[in-house]
Parts: sequence; C-alpha cells; structure tokens
Amino acid sequence: MTTGAPHTLVICGHGMVAQRLLEKLVAQPHQPFSRIVVLNGEASPAYNRIQLSVLLAGDASESSLQLRQPGWYQQHNIEVHQGDPVTTINREAKHVTTASGLIQEYSRLVIATGSRSASLGIQGEGLDGVVGFRDLQDTQKLIDISQRHRRAVVIGGGFLGLEAAEGLRSRGMSVTVLHRSSHLLNRQLDATGGALLESALNDRGLALLTRTSPVALLGNHTVRAVQLDDETLISTDLVVVAAGIAPNIQLARDAGLDCDRAIQVNPQLATSDPAIYALGECCQVLEHTFGLVEPGYQQAEVLAQVLCDAASTAAYQPSEIPTRLKISGIPIFSCGQTQPDSETESVIWQDHESQHYCRLLVRDQRLTGAVLFGETTDGLWYSERIRQADDISAYRAQLAFGKPYCDAA
Ligand SMILES: Cc1cc2nc3c(=O)[nH]c(=O)nc-3n(C[C@H](O)[C@H](O)[C@H](O)COP(=O)(O)OP(=O)(O)OC[C@H]3O[C@@H](n4cnc5c(N)ncnc54)[C@H](O)[C@@H]3O)c2cc1C
Repeated sequence: MTTGAPHTLVICGHGMVAQRLLEKLVAQPHQPFSRIVVLNGEASPAYNRIQLSVLLAGDASESSLQLRQPGWYQQHNIEVHQGDPVTTINREAKHVTTASGLIQEYSRLVIATGSRSASLGIQGEGLDGVVGFRDLQDTQKLIDISQRHRRAVVIGGGFLGLEAAEGLRSRGMSVTVLHRSSHLLNRQLDATGGALLESALNDRGLALLTRTSPVALLGNHTVRAVQLDDETLISTDLVVVAAGIAPNIQLARDAGLDCDRAIQVNPQLATSDPAIYALGECCQVLEHTFGLVEPGYQQAEVLAQVLCDAASTAAYQPSEIPTRLKISGIPIFSCGQTQPDSETESVIWQDHESQHYCRLLVRDQRLTGAVLFGETTDGLWYSERIRQADDISAYRAQLAFGKPYCDAA
C-alpha cells in the first residue's frame, strides 16, 4: 500500500517530544502541511512517560498518563498509526516503510524515536524476568511480576533505577539495587548527598550496594540469580535493567544520516539530509545528547517554527538544565557542576535533624553548581545565578540560606 500527499509531514515516533511538536505546530498561525502523519512504534498514543514511576508505584492509572484524548488528533486532522514502527527510510524516494508494510511518502520527515534502556552487555540479558524501565509495556510487565514474585534486583542507582526500585518496594517486593559508582545518583548528587539518600532509602527497606557491578544473569529460561564481580550470587525473580539509556538511531544510521552517539543535527534540528529533522532523546546537538524532557520541549518549540517558516532564524542552544527529582518523596535538585574540583570552593549547609543538605560550588565569586537535598525551594533561583554568572560576593555569607536572605543582604 502506498499513500502520499503533496505536502506531508511524517513524524516517526510518538513520545513526549513528538507530542509537544504537534502541539506547537497546530498553535502556529500558518501551519503549511496538508497532512501530518505520526507513525508510532508503541501501541498507545503519546503518554506522560515521566509518570511511569507513579504508575509502577500504584499511585496513578494508565489512562491518567494519556497526554491527549483521541478526539484531539481528529480535531487537528493528525493521523496517528499505533504499534507500527518505521523500519526503513528511503531518502531518494522520500518515503518510509513500516513493519506492517505501509509506505508513507513525506516532504518533511521528523525522527523522534527517543531512547531505550542501554544493554549491560553481559550473559543472561535475554532471560525472561529481565526487564527495562522505559515504556508502558515494561511497566505492565514489572507490575505483573511484582504480583506473583517477591524478590527483585535493580541494576543502576540513577534516577530511573531508584524510581523502579521504590515502585517495586511499594508493591511489596524485597529489592536490592546495584550501583557501579561510589554513591547513588552520582550525576545529580555529590558524595554527601548520595550518602544521605542511601541512608534514607535504607531506612525505607531498600538494600543498596554501591561500587558493585553484575557480571552475569543466571537461569535457564527465567532469571534466577545475579552474579556479582566478587562471585557473590543474589537470588532473584526479577532483574530491572536501568543502567543508562541508548538513543534509538539505527533507523537513521541505516539511512546514511550522520550519527555519532545520537543523530547529529544543527541548531535548527536538521540532520545531514535537509528534508529530515530529529529531536528529543534520539538527537545530538554538537557534543550534547539528552536524557530529560525539557531540552526536547525547547527543541520542539524551535522545530515548529522552522517547519512553518523556511526563513525562520529560530535556533536551539543547549543550556544548563536543572534537574528536579523526587525519590521516595525526598525532593532533590541539582544544576551545573555537582562535584567539587581544585578550582572551586564549596559553601555547605546541613541540618542533621531534618536531613536537609545544600552544597553550592563557587569559582571566582560566581556560582557554578548547586546540589540540594531535602529542601529545594531555592533551586531555580540558584540556577538563575549560575546561568547569569552573577558576582555573589555581596551575599556570599547568606548564599546557603536562599533568596530571601540574599535579597536582604
Ligand atoms: C520511568 C521514567 C521516568 C522519567 N522521569 C523523568 C523526569 O522525572 N524528568 C525528566 O525530565 N525526564 C524523565 N524521564 C525521561 C523523559 O521521559 C524523556 O526525556 C522523554 O520522554 C523523551 O522524549 P522523546 O519523545 O525524545 O522520546 P520518547 O518519549 O522515548 O518517545 C520515543 C517514541 O518513539 C517510538 N519509536 C522508537 N523507534 C521507533 C520507530 N522506528 N518507529 C516508530 N516509533 C518509534 C518509541 O516507541 C517511543 O514511543 C523519564 C523516563 C522514564 C522512562
């Protein structure tokens, strides 16, 4: 079957960023496409992926994750094909082919294929009971296994791994987290913040092993144990693989588009083929790749303008995006540099009773990084100081107490 139209925009992938692009496109005064076709690998239309942790913990329903009701797509004349991933891009003929054999022509193609859980590269990853934590299907599998079994091992103590661990724990599983680095959330927290988090999660009943890597997953058909690098075996019924993400770039690579760690795009989100764009977690701007939704949203804003106006000067500039997380109800914020080095001084404030902690990194009287644990109200104010590179010498003594004290100083 072949379908085509004179001016067709095809979007490959329907995740959070593709949906934001659609929202921005329909809000433009002159949207030039006579057809917009979305080809989605997943079985359901775009949903709030961030809320999968809440769904896993049993605090949200699947339907509450939906970003738009089906009527919205009809109202804006957007065709969405679910559960039919794009398998090839033919750049000469300007069409894509899907797994079901649909051939869809395009005048402009947007690749928004996101990421998947990165492989561990060890024996046993293909066993039943070894699950990633990326989409609704993974989450449904985790919920299903948690209802039949008691023990889980989560590989990765970053935010995805910890959210998976907390969700499974709240469903009654006994959970062990393995983390390769010396402290949890090592991208967002310094060693003290990581230790505070470890102690809080231990108190809630999670077993946490840092500086620990699995070397094999053992079992016949179903995973039964995780073997560690010191030969220890941990018996388990479930392994969650949450040790980083890998951008989905095979489609683009097979089509001959320039790829590095992800699909390379210019500041207008164009790939090495000017009719094809990429954005979100599958793209790379200069040396930057992305693992949070906010940069993708900023890219969607730019790309909507570029697609609607060939003369648009809109351009995406990667910027320091603060990370705001809630792990097991504990608010965490970080922005900029998180680990001290020989050129930075640290301003540290800690309340042992409330378990609140703040580390601010300063270089040449400018704030270069902030790590907040437990109390994060002033996070955005600190990130503004980092972005604007303000001289903080006039209120340095008050810096750790937040905006009101600094304003008063
Ligand atoms: C459990 C969880 C919690 C998270 N929490 C946070 C958070 O607190 N804060 C934050 O900022 N970010 C968070 N993230 C990350 C955030 O969800 C992503 O940054 C965001 O979803 C990226 O959007 P995207 O559209 O680029 O990719 P995705 O949302 O991954 O969407 C890509 C879509 O493309 C589809 N696809 C892939 N290949 C094909 C193909 N060949 N053909 C058709 N379709 C294809 C995929 O199936 C998927 O549906 C979390 C992620 C997870 C998994």
